[in-house]
Amino acid sequence: MKSHRFIQSCAAAVLFAVSFIPANATGERPNIIVILADDLGYGDLACYGHPSIRTPNLDRMAAQGMRFTDFYVAAEVCTPSRAALMTGRLPIRNGMCSDKRRVLFPNSAGGLPASEITIARMLKARGYATGCVGKWHLGHHPQFLPTSHGFDSYFGIPYSNDMDRDASAGPKGRAAFFAPKSEYWKPPFMRDTAVLERGPDQTQLTPRYTAEALKFIRANKAKPFFLYFAHNFPHVPLFASEKFHGKSRRGLYGDVVEELDWSVGRVLDTLRAEGLAENTLVFFTSDNGPWLIFDTHGGSAGPLRDGKGSTWEGGMREPGIAWWPGRIKPGIVNHELASSLDLLPTFAALAGAMLPRDLLLDGVDMSPLLFGAGPSKREVMFYYRGTQLFAVRKGPFKAHFITRSGYDKDPPAPHDPPLLFHLGRDPGERFDVAKDHPDVLADIAKEVERHRATVTPVQSQLEDSK
Ligand code: MG
Repeated sequence: MKSHRFIQSCAAAVLFAVSFIPANATGERPNIIVILADDLGYGDLACYGHPSIRTPNLDRMAAQGMRFTDFYVAAEVCTPSRAALMTGRLPIRNGMCSDKRRVLFPNSAGGLPASEITIARMLKARGYATGCVGKWHLGHHPQFLPTSHGFDSYFGIPYSNDMDRDASAGPKGRAAFFAPKSEYWKPPFMRDTAVLERGPDQTQLTPRYTAEALKFIRANKAKPFFLYFAHNFPHVPLFASEKFHGKSRRGLYGDVVEELDWSVGRVLDTLRAEGLAENTLVFFTSDNGPWLIFDTHGGSAGPLRDGKGSTWEGGMREPGIAWWPGRIKPGIVNHELASSLDLLPTFAALAGAMLPRDLLLDGVDMSPLLFGAGPSKREVMFYYRGTQLFAVRKGPFKAHFITRSGYDKDPPAPHDPPLLFHLGRDPGERFDVAKDHPDVLADIAKEVERHRATVTPVQSQLEDSK
């Protein structure tokens, strides 16, 4: 613990000393775009093996760039996962998780604390134009909105598209999701801090977001920019525009994913057309796994176990595709461990931006991975559900201390000794090999001990309502 603190304070001193020198050798400031899907499963893209959803643009993005097989988000549901992506920190460190309310709701009082440094705030300090389009879900009160967290502009729904249900409209309960109409839900649609409308036509969400994203790219092409483009779909209720509705062999879910794929193609084509492709990193992923309790309206985790809400692989391992023509070698499939937690430190390295000085980061710089210059610096992945550590992966092994399916009523099942799976040989987590590897379990126990020593309990932002 003492030496850990010593290293931390040395690192802080070094950061302070070089605070006016770009961290990268070239001093370049590439454009950075993060495209985030909502509740898209590991197995929902053609380039990840889906047999009946067509995703030619994401397939092309992967063929021209790098596709990760072992890319993880830091939580199994929306709010904590997004908080981790945006800050490079586990939600347990900033209160963006809870065991009582799993995400922020329209009556929630909290949001991402002002003391957190987002990717946008970090890059803005380095002279970037910063735009947020789509779903935020890190607090919808003014002090928590994107414009209070380093973004110059915001356009979208500040939480999930199934929130603010109008109880007087449509069928009760789940039936509304299986024959959805926009008027059943009344979420706010915002520009910056102003509500433009309530209950937007959700068949137009993806086209509207895409138009706004392209407008942002064109308007900022003369300066470095960061665009966080977070779709509301394929989170239920599902809606596709007329051009895509009824076109996919996978039904409405496939229509929605194929429209997201179209949107990704529009972004990449626009970067090419504007001459920006060779100076722009685009990263595509999803916030958590598929919402399996919604039958065919939920996605697929492919060979992985369970989905959204669980710390089985299907809840937190996601498609991850990086694209940067001329810098990332085309067609690489990367099997190293990487996480959405790593985006902030990676972008800091690429842009020569200052890392948050007084905040303990859980991410590592993955730029060597992107450029084929070395193995991942990430050895361990922690799987939290709410405030509790359910599982840990180190190398190919994953130990579960507690298991629980995403949304079934089953109570949590503690395991002592933990369950142990070899994710290379057994990606579906079916065959417990704990008794064959006591050394691995002992090593993981040490990792847990080291990790717990760095965690200080904080007040949850998700529990208070108003
Ligand atoms: Mg989600």
